[in-house]
Amino acid sequence: MVWARSVPRAWRERLKRYRLVGGKCPACGSLVYPHRLVCPYCGHEGLEEVELPRRGKVISYTVIRHPPSEFKGLEPYVIAVVELEGGARVLAQLTDVEPGEVEVGMEVEAVLRRYREQGPDGVIEYGLKFRPVE
Ligand SMILES: [Zn+2]
Repeated sequence: MVWARSVPRAWRERLKRYRLVGGKCPACGSLVYPHRLVCPYCGHEGLEEVELPRRGKVISYTVIRHPPSEFKGLEPYVIAVVELEGGARVLAQLTDVEPGEVEVGMEVEAVLRRYREQGPDGVIEYGLKFRPVE
């Protein structure tokens, strides 16, 4: 997802309501994110598209101190595996939290945040991040 800097207000509003769309396996009931065609657990083809819960908890995390060049300046930041309610697992960056405050088991919720800015034209990508639930 890439939007220009001049993204209109209406779009921003839409971003706030961004849905977390994943897949549900009709055979084994597993939830996966992102949506895909084949169930990674049982191999069943034809997962249904479902909206996933936005809340979950951190089950593991890594503090990134030496990021690839496009993320330079953002370090240190935290990449976590978040298990959503229902069991789908999402690999995503945490936001609104210091690396030293992150704990396994921490309750988090999905938000749309600026992800990175590219080049002098300032193309901004928005992406899914998770922040602690207050
Ligand atoms: Zn399955």
